Parts: sequence; C-alpha cells; structure tokens
Amino acid sequence: MSIENPDSTPNPSSNKQIKYCPNCGNQALAQAVICVKCGYSFSEFYKPLANKSAWSGLSMFLLIFGTLLIPFFGIIMGAVSLSTPARRTQGISLLVLGIIRELIILIMIVIFVIGFFSVNTYYTYPYF
Ligand SMILES: [Zn+2]
Repeated sequence: MSIENPDSTPNPSSNKQIKYCPNCGNQALAQAVICVKCGYSFSEFYKPLANKSAWSGLSMFLLIFGTLLIPFFGIIMGAVSLSTPARRTQGISLLVLGIIRELIILIMIVIFVIGFFSVNTYYTYPYF
C-alpha cells in the first residue's frame, strides 16, 4: 500500500462503500459476502440458499401428492433439493418415491402389454 494523505483527492479505494453488519454492527465493505467478525451472511443470493429450512409438513404433503400424480416432478424437486442441506433427506425421499412411482407405471404398462398380447394370442390362436 502506498502512503497517501487521507485528505487528498479521493482515490478509488477510499470510495468503496461501507456497510454495517446487522448482527454485530461490525464495519464491512459493501461487496463483502459475510461479516468477518460474526460470520453473518450479507449476500441475498447465498442467504436463502444457506438458511433455507426443511420443507414444512404441508409443503411435503403437496410435494408427495405432486410426485404421486407426476413422478417426474418429484424426481426433479428431489434432485434440486440436494443442493440445500436442510432439504437433502426430504429430497432423497421424493427422489425415491418418484422413481418407485415411475417403476409402478412401467410395471403397469408391461402388465398391460403382456395382458394385451396374451388376450390377442388367445383369440388368434385357433386361426393358426
Ligand atoms: Zn457481524
């Protein structure tokens, strides 16, 4: 750092905006992401991600309901929630539920197809 007179013409570094930590009152640079004193997160982007709470009972009920209707929705929601620590367990549950639901649909399709063909061969068999 060069020796500069604080009363001289403003230089870019002295123009840096200052903000105060709402948690401990510590002075911090405007572009600071967290308070160096107490660890408070200033960033509006990182804050909701880090502080995201687990889904409530109602949210979870709606998510499970949505997954049962559209398994792909549960798989997507489950995969997205893996980046949020508080929702990881719930996300894995949704992922598993979505995959099981998807498999049930697949098995039903297979049973239907097998059933269709067995009925079809039953009716067509006498003609061979
Ligand atoms: Zn602080």
